[in-house]
Amino acid sequence: VLLALLAGLLAPARPAPGQAAPQAQVASEIQIGVSTQGRPISALRVGYGPRKLVLVGNTHGGPEANTFQLVSQLQEHYRARPELVPPALRVYFIPTLNPDGLALGTRFNANGIDLNRNMNTDLDSCPENDWSTTVQGAYGLIADTGGPYADSEVESRVMRAFLIDAAGAIFFHSNAGLVFPAFCEHTPSNALGEAYARAAGYVYSRYWPFYQITGGMHDWAASLGIAAITPELTTGDQVEFEQNLAGVQAVLDQAEAMLPLPADGFEDGVAVPAPIWRFWRMHGGAARFGRPLAPAASNGDVVQQYFERALLEWRPGLADTPQLVQAATLGRALTVGRAFAPPASGEGRVFAETGFAAGGAFLESWERGGGIEVFGYPISGELNEAAAGGRTVQYFERARLDYYPEGTDGGFVRLGPLGWQAWQRAQVLRPLSGQTPR
Ligand SMILES: [Zn+2]
Repeated sequence: VLLALLAGLLAPARPAPGQAAPQAQVASEIQIGVSTQGRPISALRVGYGPRKLVLVGNTHGGPEANTFQLVSQLQEHYRARPELVPPALRVYFIPTLNPDGLALGTRFNANGIDLNRNMNTDLDSCPENDWSTTVQGAYGLIADTGGPYADSEVESRVMRAFLIDAAGAIFFHSNAGLVFPAFCEHTPSNALGEAYARAAGYVYSRYWPFYQITGGMHDWAASLGIAAITPELTTGDQVEFEQNLAGVQAVLDQAEAMLPLPADGFEDGVAVPAPIWRFWRMHGGAARFGRPLAPAASNGDVVQQYFERALLEWRPGLADTPQLVQAATLGRALTVGRAFAPPASGEGRVFAETGFAAGGAFLESWERGGGIEVFGYPISGELNEAAAGGRTVQYFERARLDYYPEGTDGGFVRLGPLGWQAWQRAQVLRPLSGQTPR
């Protein structure tokens, strides 16, 4: 019950019943991230409801600038008429996810990566759409533009973090004149695609008909339970406003039926609250964080859940920020009192924030696994850790990375069991008065 109450806090504060909301609260503009070249990526929220619907324009930059214009116009339409957003819903308008591509006149981001081929689409049960460096792009052209690894681009990571509590996502593209849902069977996405196409007057197509999309945003979103579709405008230069306004309004009017609230996960029979479950899954699941050790528990305004290799924390008050769900700083907590000498000259990348460097397999694993967002900064150098059987490890603010030289490809790095250590410590330190007698 307590978790359900906290879930209600996910939505921005609503005015008291019978009171008119100040205009500034009905709609508010936020910056959700910055692009590779430092351009802001912004979103406008309209409404307060528990269901989060996100409209994303211009993933493909300059050649699809009409989708930037479309979402900009939709944003202004609903900013001026917030009463069109039903109480069940809050809607976010992101006119461009790819401001660099828009400024540079390219389909790609500033690193030359196709942002609609870069997502980790290996989470669903369909191998056909799994992420790949080599992709098919516009007009079937084959190119190595999927990125060096899944979720490698900052724009992809901005989207990943912002959709963690979304119920629905609409990714606008041009110019095929059809609407298609996630590739892997996901009933809410199919229903959303059909409803949108019918109202907008576009053709509904169960699959993108021209080639196999890998690493697509809609496929990634649906694998987390988000109803996700891609409307393709018919032209490459017209906004097609009235058609898409009809499509969006049809979705708004049926929001409770079309957009399922984020669902809790169950791992080994243990319930995992929806935002924690999505974070856990999108950042590597059991292979990265291990399995849950206990049910989630509320601690003040934080919901905490111990996993074998992390303590994941959900702060409902930080909705729409990248800090909504984070790994607790167990690397720091479990090394209190230990003095790590910074290396005189760091090998690899030096982090001015803490004075430590990370290199080799540790740095590669850190970058690919989510970097600062997931692990924090290094707080030690590489060291031989007796508590890890003499293994070479490195402590970061939120994790310990352990090096395993075993294997044929030069070894691998995985998280040390800090969640388990902290959980055991919490059992010992729990005050007797707080224990339930059996
Ligand atoms: Zn496109």
